[in-house]
Amino acid sequence: MQKKSDKITKLLDKYRQTKRIQKGLLKLSELAGSVTDMACFYPNLQQIIRQYFPTDNLYIQLFTEPDSLNADHFYIDESICSKIDQQLSGDMVEFISGIEKPVLINHHQVSILEQDNNVSVRPFPKRHSQTQLVDVWLAAPLIMGNVSMGLVGVKGFINPDNSARSNLEMIHFIALHIASAIVRNRASEQLKVYSKDLEDIIFDRTKRLQRSNFNLRKQVEERRKSELKLFYEAHHDPLTKLPNRSMFSDRLEHSIKHLKRHPNHRFAVLFIDLDRFKIINDTLGHHVGDKLLVQIADRIAQCIRGNDILARLGGDEFVILLDSISSNDDAEEIATRIIEAIALPFTIEQQQLYSSASIGISICDQQYNSASEILRDADAAMYQAKSIGNGRLMFFDKSMREQLLANLNLERELRTAIKEQQFALHFQKITELHEEKAIGFEALLRWQHPQRGLLSPADFLELAEETSLILDIEDWVLKTVAKQIKLWQQDSALKHAFISVNLSGKHVWQTQSVRELSTLISNNFDRPEQLIIEFNEHAFNRHPKQSLSNLELLKKSGVRLALDDYGSGISSLNYLSKYPFELIKLDRSFVRSLCSNPKNLELAKSLSQIGDNFGFRLVAEGIESQQQLDMVVQCGCEYGQGFFISKPKSIENTSKESGANNNSAINPSGNIDHCA
Ligand code: C2E
Ligand code: CA
Ligand code: CA
Repeated sequence: MQKKSDKITKLLDKYRQTKRIQKGLLKLSELAGSVTDMACFYPNLQQIIRQYFPTDNLYIQLFTEPDSLNADHFYIDESICSKIDQQLSGDMVEFISGIEKPVLINHHQVSILEQDNNVSVRPFPKRHSQTQLVDVWLAAPLIMGNVSMGLVGVKGFINPDNSARSNLEMIHFIALHIASAIVRNRASEQLKVYSKDLEDIIFDRTKRLQRSNFNLRKQVEERRKSELKLFYEAHHDPLTKLPNRSMFSDRLEHSIKHLKRHPNHRFAVLFIDLDRFKIINDTLGHHVGDKLLVQIADRIAQCIRGNDILARLGGDEFVILLDSISSNDDAEEIATRIIEAIALPFTIEQQQLYSSASIGISICDQQYNSASEILRDADAAMYQAKSIGNGRLMFFDKSMREQLLANLNLERELRTAIKEQQFALHFQKITELHEEKAIGFEALLRWQHPQRGLLSPADFLELAEETSLILDIEDWVLKTVAKQIKLWQQDSALKHAFISVNLSGKHVWQTQSVRELSTLISNNFDRPEQLIIEFNEHAFNRHPKQSLSNLELLKKSGVRLALDDYGSGISSLNYLSKYPFELIKLDRSFVRSLCSNPKNLELAKSLSQIGDNFGFRLVAEGIESQQQLDMVVQCGCEYGQGFFISKPKSIENTSKESGANNNSAINPSGNIDHCA
């Protein structure tokens, strides 16, 4: 009975032990499956071994990477702490690991768990005489990926009651789980390293990307800024910062389109041109001119409304687009305001300057198709405004356009006339008044127009001046006169006769022009003293200083100089005293006034006396009657011309009248030496 109950108790113990071991194995497999950190794994493993298996002595050693972390040389011993290869001799460790199978080693024999789970037994290998084995050892290789990477060993049996086979299977099982835990851990460590590397790479790349993004954004921003700057510069005037012609035209085109869709909408363009701005620029310098332009731009800007556009076309020209007006009065009111604002004095560099503006206004209707048409018409109106005086405004009307077209046509015809030499000269006799003797002739320009017949200077001179075509025409005049003088030189009576020509002031504005004129004279006139050149005071008003020095230069070519139309304009005494004129021609209007205006009579007398002192002679122009002739003689005028004496005639009629022979029939018996 006792025996039976002992047996039952034994069985029960065995059952409990087996159950504990099974639980241990389960725990072990759980631990191996969940391992994330070997530093925790080994102590936990030790716990499980201690708790569930009847052994305390678990040793683990990894062969590879002997110098790596201590964790790989994990060993547990309740009494002594030593490595597995310090517990077992080196040749034993080599032997066990060489077998690469779970082994149970005691003093006499080695039991090996074969691949087919059978247990083979061989004698204890005694390689060296010293090799002693104090304890029984259970060991198994840690196989990782078919390679034995280490050993797990237990000193003593895991279960001394079990058969060798059960213990071998047990250690095999434990080894498998430890190996798999190590593999998993290594993989996860590797993964960590990889992901760390990956993170580093990503971090690095992200940083570089951010940097290049930043640079890119900076470049884009800089590009955007420089594009904006370029756009701004392309559309604005650098001096006043106002929109320029290009931008203004764009806006105007836009308004024209809007007008096509909304016929009731009305807008206007104001064309502003400063009067006499060039004088300020030329006399005070460009930097003063620039400052004045900036101040003027500011004043104009004060006169317009928020949605109007003010632009500078260039030079002294400004334009305004009055976006929306209810009537012409609106435009007129703003233009008047601008004229008044510009008329107020300006202070620039401590000096007061005055300016004025002429304004042309074009009211825009649906007839306009382009910005340039509107600008053209506003410009034409401004031009008209200027012609009636400074500081005026004028609305454009169709007659201006007609005038504009007529001028264009006339310009074209003038160019043809120059090419085809459609010009002629008429000559008006100039006589010595006391003895009524001809001393010379004034050459007066005529245009033999193919359709319109013979035209006087009044019909084309203004446009010829404006377009500078006058310079080409006068080139022809001078050469023709030179030929005429040459012809007369063959006639003993006319040898000394002079011819007087009227030249545009453009010849004396620039030294270069005077040089060209002098060259032309010296190339064509053998005796330049027979040429008299007449300028009226308008020629010098613009550039008085420059003109004076240029006149002196011209005088060196040997010609004589006359001041034309004296008494019709400002008639400054300066011209009489400082300028190298030998003849002063009293204007027709002044001559006519002598009969009715005793003051002018006295003035003329004084002029004659001044002439004696300064060395000029007077020529009375436009003598139309005996009375006028008497008057000018009374004043002391030596020479004269006029319808009363002789009307201008073609060269043929001049010849006929004078009864001269050959080509030049003029017989001026007068003493040419008066002027010589
Ligand atoms: P001007 O130099 O004062 O020439 C005299 C003008 O008065 C001429 O007019 C002449 O025909 C006119 N005339 C002469 N005597 C009398 C008179 O008793 N009564 C009246 N009412 N008129 C008289 P024309 O030929 O029509 O020339 C007009 C102006 O054209 C000239 O005035 C001159 O300034 C300018 N001119 C003529 N030829 C040329 C030229 O080749 N070049 C330039 N730049 N101007 C010229
Ligand atoms: Ca003249
Ligand atoms: Ca004259």
